[in-house]
Parts: sequence; C-alpha cells; structure tokens
Amino acid sequence: MDTIYDLIIIGSGPAGLSAAVYAQRAKLSTLIIEKTGVSGGQILNTSEVDNYLGLPGIGGYDLGIRMREHVDALEGQFVTGSVLSITLDGNEKIIRLEDGNSYRAKAIIIAAGASHRMLNIPGEETFRGQGVSYCATCDGAFFRNQITAVIGGGDVAVEDALFLARLCKQVYVIHRRNEFRAAKVLGERLEALENVTILWDSTAVSINGTDTVESLSVQSVKTNETKDYPVSGVFIAVGMVPNSSAYKGVVDMDASGYIIANETGITSTPGIFAAGDIRTKQLRQVISAAGDGANAVYSVQQYLTHL
Ligand code: NAP
Repeated sequence: MDTIYDLIIIGSGPAGLSAAVYAQRAKLSTLIIEKTGVSGGQILNTSEVDNYLGLPGIGGYDLGIRMREHVDALEGQFVTGSVLSITLDGNEKIIRLEDGNSYRAKAIIIAAGASHRMLNIPGEETFRGQGVSYCATCDGAFFRNQITAVIGGGDVAVEDALFLARLCKQVYVIHRRNEFRAAKVLGERLEALENVTILWDSTAVSINGTDTVESLSVQSVKTNETKDYPVSGVFIAVGMVPNSSAYKGVVDMDASGYIIANETGITSTPGIFAAGDIRTKQLRQVISAAGDGANAVYSVQQYLTHL
C-alpha cells in the first residue's frame, strides 16, 4: 500500500474506461479496479449498440473490447477485485477490496454501474440458470425453437424479445402497463412479429416447474385473473439497481441508492466523484456514461490542483 495514486477509478464500463483515457492523457498516476477482469460493463451483454455516435450497429462486446484496447494503448493499469469499503485518511482515500488488498489515492471516481433488478417472485431464485435468465444475448441460444417469456417493457426487454423472436418458436412479453417504456421504433418492430404475443397490463406472479422451468403464471392487473403459460425460459428485464452498497455512508445517495452528483461528478465528499449509471441522471446510455468519465476527470484535475 506504499503507492498513493492520484486517482483510482472503480469500474471498467464506458464511464470508467472513458475516465481512464482522460486520466492517462492527463498523466495522472491512475489505477482502474474492475470486478471481473473483463472490461465493458453492461454493454458486454448487449447484442447491438445502435446509438453510439459513429459506430452504428456495433456489437456490445466488440465496443467493450475496443474501449479497453484504447485504455491499454495508453498503458492503463488494471487490477481485478470487488470493493468492500472506502475510508478517509485526511485527504487520502483508502480502498479495501474483498480479497484483502488495499489501495490509496488522492481522488476516486466511482463508476461501478448498475445491476439487474430482481422481480422477487416464487421460482425466480430456484430456477436461476435453469430457465431463468437476465441476459437474452447470453442465454437465448439455449432456448432455440422453444417457448420463452420476457418480463418488462423497457429498451432491454424489447430488445431481448426481438432477439429471442429470431430463435424461439414463440415469445410472450409481459408488461405491467399498456404501453412500452422502450423507444417507439423498437416497440413497433416487436408488435409486428407473428411469433410474439404481448400481454399488456400483466405481471408475472410465479415461475413454475420441477427441475427446470415449465410454466409462467401471469396475472392481469385489470381483472386479477391468473393464467399459466407453458414456457421453458423466462427472461427478466425489469431495469437496474445501482451497485452502490459499498459506498453507503461515504457519499450521499438518493432513495434508490444512486450517488447524488451532477455532470461534474462531484459528490458530497471532496475528492470522491461519481460517473456513469451509478449517479443521479436523466439518461443512462453508453454515450452519456462516456461523457461522464471525461467530465469526472476534469473535476479530479481541478480538485488535485487545489489540494
Ligand atoms: P428501464 O428503462 O428502467 O425499464 C424497466 C422496465 O421494467 C419498465 O418497463 C418497467 O415498467 C418494468 N418494471 C420495473 N420494475 C418492475 C416490476 N417489479 N415488475 C414488472 N415490471 C417492472 O430499464 P432497462 O430496459 O433495463 O433499461 C435501462 C436503461 O438502459 C434505460 O435508460 C434504457 O433506455 C437504456 N438502454 C438503452 C438501449 C438502447 O438505446 N439501445 C438499450 C438497452 C438499454 P414501467 O414501464 O411500468 O415502469
């Protein structure tokens, strides 16, 4: 723990990697902590990113790799590990990892992103990995020519359903309201598919089976009537929750656990900044995460100058 880095970046999704590019170019001594040893964050599980400027239709995994290669070309230094805690020692910050390692820095950018929200219905935990999935592009191929269901009405749910419709005999989409939250263009594409049935105003109440998933019970929010659908795969896409539990008490958060920060990334604690999906913001997209990383490093430079 002898080294005191100018900056430690937690997370290697678009926000963290963008911050790493800006930090390397600013010649800050920088360490990037990533959880899995594979960079890219959520886009790794996205089949296609069609709205990142200049790279229409690029695969999510490919975009993640290209971002990582950009940082590697600038000789960014990575370690793998999960952050347990941050403590303050005067102006210095100490980051402890679950594996027992600790690192010191003058400034930290938290860019740890967000994870899949659970539905918390019977069968979800039991059949996780046995028919219940949170990633259609990862697991969809296991359900070729079978009947599947997607739960949710956002961009991810609709993109998942579009992806599964190319593989599966039949796809049910269960959404609790009568219109999608997803971009109109995606919703219209889905509604036009013959092997997709959208169950509006409906919620999934249980995932049933013996060894693997055999059916999904769906309840109408209007009539309360419950019906079982014979499916072998259930894809849950009901949004994200911020990966912020390790930072409770270190920086201020909103009621949902997002770190309170505007586009400067400045949090309630001097020298700790937040970037990407983990902070309070209007739009959680790759392009806005990348912008956040750049902005946060600019704020770090100003902070270090005035230390
Ligand atoms: P999201 O936009 O928050 O949508 C979550 C969906 O799940 C909503 O339709 C919501 O219903 C539903 N939901 C939430 N909790 C539920 C529950 N307990 N039971 C049943 N349904 C529930 O999340 P997302 O689709 O994961 O997307 C996350 C972010 O990534 C969004 O900002 C999205 O725009 C972005 N994204 C963009 C792209 C792209 O541009 N290509 C691709 C993927 C993701 P309500 O609609 O009723 O709230």
